[in-house]
Amino acid sequence: MKLASFNDFRIGVVHEALVHDVTACVPSWLDAMPDQRMRWLIENWHDALARVQVAARTAQGRPLAQVKLLAPVPAPSHVFAAPANYEKHIGELGERAITKKGRSAREQGFFLKAPGSLVGAGDAIYLPRGSQRRFDHESELAVVIGKHGRDIPRENAMEYVFGYSCLMDITMRIEPGTGEEERSMRKSFASFTPMGPYLVTADEVSTPGRLRNRLSVNGEIRQDANTSELIVGIEELIELVSSVLPVRPGDVIATGTPAGVGPLVAGDKVTISIEQVGEFTLPVIEAAVTSPRAY
Ligand code: MN
Repeated sequence: MKLASFNDFRIGVVHEALVHDVTACVPSWLDAMPDQRMRWLIENWHDALARVQVAARTAQGRPLAQVKLLAPVPAPSHVFAAPANYEKHIGELGERAITKKGRSAREQGFFLKAPGSLVGAGDAIYLPRGSQRRFDHESELAVVIGKHGRDIPRENAMEYVFGYSCLMDITMRIEPGTGEEERSMRKSFASFTPMGPYLVTADEVSTPGRLRNRLSVNGEIRQDANTSELIVGIEELIELVSSVLPVRPGDVIATGTPAGVGPLVAGDKVTISIEQVGEFTLPVIEAAVTSPRAY
């Protein structure tokens, strides 16, 4: 099933080019905190599934083009992300890399992106106004956690996967000597974590460890890899994260970028496409407001 968050945090089931509104399947007390509806649905999926299926069949579909797609999990507790997880990417950033000596995610572990940096396929990537810094695209498979867990051994890890989505890990690069901010901050500007277009449940993704992962800018392919090249695979990533803290339903794990990372400028159009998971395109726009602390 393809689940979408749209408009004012409504929940939809997407079938072909239509979205069927199934918001009535989540409790009305969530109207007070609508950005938590999808997390509730993920946590209660076993009980809610039959109702969602009926609602999706009976609700009239609306054309996708008429709704605004949000990040499918709009407000997760955590967005974990793997650094240096494709061999060919390690080293390609040269002096701008903060990973030295070719260490992968296995040695470095994970970092965090602010959940507030998430946007959906109906939004845009906003670059800080007037900035001369370099902003890069990274094309990543996102894994969405389905249930609470701690110290999950990799052998059981796939039981904790609810589904998958496409995720762009947009990054402000360091400038050696002049701008060397923390990684989590450089990757957490508002809109720097586009995710979507939907959340595809795990039963529809037969080979998560073997999916083509591509990103293009203005129609030109920049990144083209396969999740089979992940150094730390999905199972080991869940083991790694859950060994540090409990994972929660709706948590997102960005699995890392392949080679081909490159700059974005205002006016670009960026497309991410992952086999069995989906595809979406976002415009890159200069933010309308200059921040009091500019970058
Ligand atoms: Mn990344």
